[in-house]
Amino acid sequence: DGHVRFEEVAFGYEPERIILKGVTLDVPAGTSLAVVGPSGAGKSTLARLLYRFYDPTAGRITIDGQDIAQVKQDSLRTAIGIVPQDTVLFNDTIGYNIGYGREGATEADVESAAKGAAIDHFIAALPQGYESMVGERGLKLSGGEKQRVAIARTLLKDPPILILDEATSALDSRTEEAIQATLNDVARNRTTIVIAHRLSTVVGADQIVVLDAGRVAERGTHTELLAKG
Ligand code: ADP
Ligand code: ADP
Repeated sequence: DGHVRFEEVAFGYEPERIILKGVTLDVPAGTSLAVVGPSGAGKSTLARLLYRFYDPTAGRITIDGQDIAQVKQDSLRTAIGIVPQDTVLFNDTIGYNIGYGREGATEADVESAAKGAAIDHFIAALPQGYESMVGERGLKLSGGEKQRVAIARTLLKDPPILILDEATSALDSRTEEAIQATLNDVARNRTTIVIAHRLSTVVGADQIVVLDAGRVAERGTHTELLAKG
């Protein structure tokens, strides 16, 4: 479950300005694809198309062979989890922030849902001292802690497809490394699309594509791309 394909996908926010062109990707279920490239290359746009914030102007995107244009919005939202770069948290408890989006979720609901999903990863993604912090209000969280809350929130859905849109790139390198370890762990056995600026942060990806000005400029494994320079 979770085989993602982009077939000759093109897109522009405005008709006269093409952002993506001829993008073909094949991400078998349970494998990872990293999309790297300079700012403005179209990486986030690609993620937005998979989540159907926008539809391609040409080509198609399928999940397990089904065109996502035919998939109900809620099924798509259930199947795909996104961890964004900048997480905006409510001025409320960590528990509320993690459970947000689950109707009437209490801390107890959040905890039991977490147990049903992936308890170890869930707890690992939380800020230190989770047990005592989860019900506290108005906490000042660091960037790294906020990202852990965002990861935990996404994992609650236990989505077969995970998009990490520069989820750690705003963090200092030590925090980035610590969270990267958690992410590598939760990405195992999920289809994962990692968006990153630097090749060095996606060493473990099964395949890497380099996006440049909306086109796939290179593709291969980390070793192959390093060899090409
Ligand atoms: P990346 O994630 O690689 O930095 P983006 O996908 O965010 O690139 O942006 C690709 C191009 O699309 C950029 O030229 C950007 O200015 C433009 N763009 C992004 N979002 C929008 C939008 N909502 N409306 C119009 N243009 C946009
Ligand atoms: P991200 O890539 O982190 O998701 P944004 O989507 O906010 O960030 O912006 C990506 C790029 O697209 C930025 O360069 C931004 O200036 C540009 N952009 C975002 N929204 C628009 C828009 N409505 N019109 C034109 N450019 C946009």
